[in-house]
Amino acid sequence: MENILLVDCDNFFVSCEQMFNPELEGKAVCVLGNNDGCVIARSNEAKEMGIPMGLPYFIAKKKFKDAIYVSGNRKKYSEISKKIMKRLLDFTPCVEKYSIDEAFLDIRGMEKFYKISSIQVADKIRKTIKEEFKINVSIGVSKTKTLSKIASEIAKFKVRKKIKDEYEGVFKIDDENREKILSQTKIEDVWGIGRNLHKFFRKHNVRLASDFCELDDDFLKRNLGKRGLELKQELKGNLQLKVIDYYVPPKSVSRTSTFKKSTNSKTYILNELNAHLHEVCKELRQNKLSAGGMSVLLRYKDFRVVVNKIDFKSPKSSEFELYKEMHNLFEELYKESAIYRSSGVIVYKLTPTEDIQQGLFEDVEAKKKRKLSDAWDKIEQKFGYGAINIGIKHD
Ligand SMILES: [Mg+2]
Repeated sequence: MENILLVDCDNFFVSCEQMFNPELEGKAVCVLGNNDGCVIARSNEAKEMGIPMGLPYFIAKKKFKDAIYVSGNRKKYSEISKKIMKRLLDFTPCVEKYSIDEAFLDIRGMEKFYKISSIQVADKIRKTIKEEFKINVSIGVSKTKTLSKIASEIAKFKVRKKIKDEYEGVFKIDDENREKILSQTKIEDVWGIGRNLHKFFRKHNVRLASDFCELDDDFLKRNLGKRGLELKQELKGNLQLKVIDYYVPPKSVSRTSTFKKSTNSKTYILNELNAHLHEVCKELRQNKLSAGGMSVLLRYKDFRVVVNKIDFKSPKSSEFELYKEMHNLFEELYKESAIYRSSGVIVYKLTPTEDIQQGLFEDVEAKKKRKLSDAWDKIEQKFGYGAINIGIKHD
């Protein structure tokens, strides 16, 4: 199945500028880099004008007077990039950021979830990014990273040349069209083939990607090493290079909320804290993380804040394990004479749950509690949030 996607933002820096200044849309726009020294990104219209990449600004402004030149802002682009990458994670947990404006997605196993074909998933992603960020992306769909990269270039080319396709901006390379496409793809345009190999290929009469696939394995190994063999397999549609998850775990998870009415009711505040604890723990489990410490926070009516915290001997992720600790922290903070306006729970020192030694040495009680929490997640999945709660017997 063609389940590897390459999502590539079109003219990314220009698109970011257009996002902030819609007046630039549909115009010949160049973004300048290196202290306004040269052109580092061009809109399609600027490309059509024949403005080359890297052209020094002092030449560009004389030769292409009608184009609009904008100073680049890397920080702004990288912030937008982060947001787009994060959005892509909603489509599959396996997202590899490849560059500031490109990401590989592995959507294997997601078909059942989406109940649509991979090209339709790609189309959905394209429309989502367009709608939410006003940025056009080209998406290549295929069985391997190398092929989906070629496919994304074709998708981009078709949009630029206004060649109609069933799904605009999306192109799939499958077993049917693969050989034909490889026989039209120059070897230097294949991902991972450096320009410096050009001479080597010319010497051996390898001009096209299809020529490369004809090369003998021993010959490839001798001249290009393991990478050469991998590349040949990738071009043939056999996945060699895995999509590496880009996901960076959070440093802490927190939930806070202001009470409907300022209060000193212990039951009310504990109920609020319990709800926070549950949400925090649920997020931990969703991310397969456990916490090494927890803070409870109370804010007085006059906005002063008091915090109490504890570090655990072993990381935890079940509210049944954390509840007692949270309750103790709260008891130490709570003053009957005070009026409170908000509360919060923060967990930190997060570690992946699979790294925690479990099995033989895990305490039987801890295991039971973990199972209870998993059951809770399942019930909520089925019946919705708040289907059950931990009961409190105080006041
Ligand atoms: Mg791009």
